[in-house]
Amino acid sequence: MEISDRIEQFTKMMEEDELLLKSTAIHYFRKLFATERDKSKVPDESPFYLRIINQIIRALSNNYLDHDSQADAIWVVTNMCCLNQKINHLFVEANCIDILVKQLTNGDRKIANQCIWAIANIAADCIDCKMRCRSVKVFKQLVQKLTKSYEMNQVDRRNLIWCINNLTSGGRIQVPNTVAKSMIRALSDNLFNSKGYPTESASKILWSLANIADDINNLNRIDMILDQSELVQNCLSIFLDSTYSQLHTAALRLIGNIAVGNNEQTDRLLAFSNFRYVLELAMTKVEHRSEVAWICSNICAGLPRHIDYLLINDKFYRWVQEGIQSKERRFEKECLWIVANSLVSGDEAQIEWLVEQGVIFQIARLLKSEDTRLNEKGLSAAIHIIREYPWQQRLFEELKIVECIDTSESPMLFSAQKRELEIILTNSATPKIPKIEDEFKYLSFSKIE
Ligand SMILES: [Zn+2]
Repeated sequence: MEISDRIEQFTKMMEEDELLLKSTAIHYFRKLFATERDKSKVPDESPFYLRIINQIIRALSNNYLDHDSQADAIWVVTNMCCLNQKINHLFVEANCIDILVKQLTNGDRKIANQCIWAIANIAADCIDCKMRCRSVKVFKQLVQKLTKSYEMNQVDRRNLIWCINNLTSGGRIQVPNTVAKSMIRALSDNLFNSKGYPTESASKILWSLANIADDINNLNRIDMILDQSELVQNCLSIFLDSTYSQLHTAALRLIGNIAVGNNEQTDRLLAFSNFRYVLELAMTKVEHRSEVAWICSNICAGLPRHIDYLLINDKFYRWVQEGIQSKERRFEKECLWIVANSLVSGDEAQIEWLVEQGVIFQIARLLKSEDTRLNEKGLSAAIHIIREYPWQQRLFEELKIVECIDTSESPMLFSAQKRELEIILTNSATPKIPKIEDEFKYLSFSKIE
């Protein structure tokens, strides 16, 4: 019998009123769509899929199945969602998410855990599906389960953490602070096993924590991460341990999302003695240098003491200069931000030091950048520098700084500042040494003679 005939036969069976027939058909589809089954045998599209989905949704919302068949039905959702986006969206449109969320509190753990898996799959589909799955109720339920994760088997625990990761990805999750706090605590409690090694879900846990911290409108989350005993310390240690290289990207993102925080939070981050070693190590790794440049650019947006923390490393500024020359776009961009933020947030001593290091070469790059915010910062810095350090005038002219200013992006602001810069340059270019002119005249005369 062809598979398509079988699908037809069991679809019709599921549409019968007889419960035993329904349960048999549901069980068949659970196995047919199982991820471990040979996918080439299961068609991507079938005229019967919509009918199967309707039957599954009806069975789940009317609650007439026994526990085992109910679990099977949710399993069908879990597996069918992986077939393709169209099917996933048919489930979502049929209000499947609400049905699954209601079952999260089901006393039968098999059913509740299967719902978590199904929600994880739906959330993984696209941003819209993920946003539909996000709700305070879902997060509360998942946190409650993660707090008691010792009651779960390995597969269910892995699915639960995977679900939290899928729901939180992209950051800016809107949950009350109490829920966020419990989630951070439960996640960090699952980072290491009893022997002190990272668990199999450690990468997903680090990503989830980084996602929860990722909310520029709610910096409290960063405090919650910092307040979590030993979490940041553990995260830094993971990055410094080459055995855990598969966790490094996630660990660095979590650290980076802390560096986005306010000045007090940055102070707390810099106080970790290992943080410096993490920066220095990441700077030497091609796969991490863009990310660490982004972290440094955020540190430089803080206070002069934060900038000093970086400049004290005598290799740092050379590394930034090289980064600006890099062909790796993100690395180049983040290094430009390091310079721009340092020029804005640095004190006069730091700016003077930067001038002596030839920061005007990097200012030329800031002015030519495609990012208007970088142009703005570069232009303000150029005006400040030519005023305070007039001996830079020759370099300004050699680098044609005025010509680097593109006024088309923001004509009002940039034109005025460009004019201001030109005036300062012209004034300081006015000959102040008439004696030389006299000598010139004299020489001319002598030539004529
Ligand atoms: Zn979707």
